[in-house]
Amino acid sequence: MSSALLLHGRDEAPQPDDARLAAVTVEIDDEAVRQWLLAEAVDLWSDTDAGPTLSVVLDAEALAQLQARGAAFELLSADIEADAAEERARLRGAEAARPGSWFSEYRDFATVDAYLDTLAARSELARVEHLGVSTQGRPIRALRISDAPQGAPAIVLNGGQHAREWISVMVATCIADRLVTDAQVDPAVQGLLARNTVWVAPVINPDGYVYSWESDRYWRKNRQGKHGVDLNRNWSVGFGGRGSSSNKRSQIYRGPHAFSEPETRALRDLIVREPVVAHVDFHSFGQLILYPWGYTKKPAPDLDRLASLGRSMAAAIEATHGEVYRPMAAQDLYTAGGTALDWSYGERSAMGYTIELRPSGGNGFVLPPEQIVPTCDEGYAAVRSMAAQMEL
Ligand SMILES: [Zn+2]
Repeated sequence: MSSALLLHGRDEAPQPDDARLAAVTVEIDDEAVRQWLLAEAVDLWSDTDAGPTLSVVLDAEALAQLQARGAAFELLSADIEADAAEERARLRGAEAARPGSWFSEYRDFATVDAYLDTLAARSELARVEHLGVSTQGRPIRALRISDAPQGAPAIVLNGGQHAREWISVMVATCIADRLVTDAQVDPAVQGLLARNTVWVAPVINPDGYVYSWESDRYWRKNRQGKHGVDLNRNWSVGFGGRGSSSNKRSQIYRGPHAFSEPETRALRDLIVREPVVAHVDFHSFGQLILYPWGYTKKPAPDLDRLASLGRSMAAAIEATHGEVYRPMAAQDLYTAGGTALDWSYGERSAMGYTIELRPSGGNGFVLPPEQIVPTCDEGYAAVRSMAAQMEL
């Protein structure tokens, strides 16, 4: 073999016959680049196709073309299927023998759902409530934690609208665990629960979550029909607007009409039934704290208050492990119609937030399990700070 061929063989640049799929975040300084990327992308990892950056999955050929264009981009993962395979292998091993904390590893739907019963058995203040049934017939359940009188203000926390965002499921469950535990020892939590009812629904999209565990790690939507519906475009405030799609194949397909999906109806019905004053919808990734509006560029009537609470949450998060989460009105990042935060605020006047958890970039949705507990510290700090600032 000639030295020239050897050099070529060592070349780091992906070759056209390379089957790997890479995830990148690209700065969009030119709409032509956006259109090209969206046409080439195998998957969209950004929560929108309209933001100042785009996180997309590209095959090796498209990645080589991106490099040739000289576009500024960050490589999130050189091989997303290898990331998923590594995680899968680790989880298989974990089933047999991984002692230690429940939060030292990601947990599948049945295990998370059963853990709600474990928490309810641990505390007189907690009980499991049935919110609804998914498209494929799985239960959507929440832990209700309260020492407050009937009709007390309610705080709703949820994870898992998007199936592949596993850390959101773990953080919601972990916050429920912390509240149940701290209710026995922490006067601030005792006071919070004496005056309010906290609802924690870790898995709003159980079918998608199961599918992400069993079939396609990067599945986002629910399991309606062949292509699924993006639940966080299925809410009625701003439904059908920008940042959502009528194309069933799109990752941001909004469904045929608002609340067409049993999963969004289940969470909506809870928020309608209870006097909800705050709602935090956990997602990943990006380390952002988003507040209304998302569907319009108009400022929300309570923008100052929403922003002030967002800043206090960001400060509380940074105080735990030094991680920076950027607070902003969702519209400042992108316009997205039909999201939960706009609905909770617009229809119920609740302080509505989307928190995009770790990582800021990293491997995107595949977050190392060692980061579950620190990310929970951040989510819990944010919720406590919000409650304290709202004098709940
Ligand atoms: Zn999400």
